[in-house]
Amino acid sequence: MANYSEVKSEKGKRQVVHDNFIYHSDGQGSLSSYWRCEKRGLCKGRGVIDMATNIFTQTKPHSHAVEAEKIERKRTVDHLKEAVKEDTIRPLQST
Ligand SMILES: [Zn+2]
Repeated sequence: MANYSEVKSEKGKRQVVHDNFIYHSDGQGSLSSYWRCEKRGLCKGRGVIDMATNIFTQTKPHSHAVEAEKIERKRTVDHLKEAVKEDTIRPLQST
């Protein structure tokens, strides 16, 4: 069973969350996919997902604390977007 979860960035790109760290895709091998911390340039955190087992393994440590709050907010935003799709949005009346 996977030990990470997948989210989508604002631009619709795949990201993974492991241990409350967010990773961007950093390439795809035949057996594994590679992931890089979203704080590119600031943090050398990296990980790899074994595609056979769906297990994320951190290969390089992060240089910062986790951002659970940010991840929570991201999930909330995703949720709101879904809600908006279902509701009818009334345009503001111009007077
Ligand atoms: Zn990091």
